[in-house]
Amino acid sequence: MRATPGEFQWARLHADVNRGLRRGAWYRVIRLTEDDVVLDVNRAPLRVPRPLLELATSPPRRWSVVSRLRDAVRPPPEWGDQYAACPVCRNRARIKGRPLTMRCHRCDGVFRIAWEELGVKGIVARRHDDTFQET
Ligand SMILES: [Zn+2]
Repeated sequence: MRATPGEFQWARLHADVNRGLRRGAWYRVIRLTEDDVVLDVNRAPLRVPRPLLELATSPPRRWSVVSRLRDAVRPPPEWGDQYAACPVCRNRARIKGRPLTMRCHRCDGVFRIAWEELGVKGIVARRHDDTFQET
């Protein structure tokens, strides 16, 4: 990526670690250093090691697709192997079938689903210890 550090405004987790961030959800970057990124998580700053994050320069406009592990406890098992994370409000949503776009029930936005990222970014929900504390 050819952007300078100051241009990165958004970040999401791309590693399978438990950092209090939702899988597939984008967070606003408050501060960026060589090693760390400080993110705005529900209006509280959270420092995350930079290698764990994928950075973006423009506001995300697509649902992230998150692959669930078989034994993940949340979201509910009946959601199946995948779910989506809203690019605006971070709401998690069940994906029925394979639609190109989906409406978010929380923020009412309609966004494309980033199916093309599947298997590339490897966004994976953890098993038992992903507490999803964030609301
Ligand atoms: Zn939303």
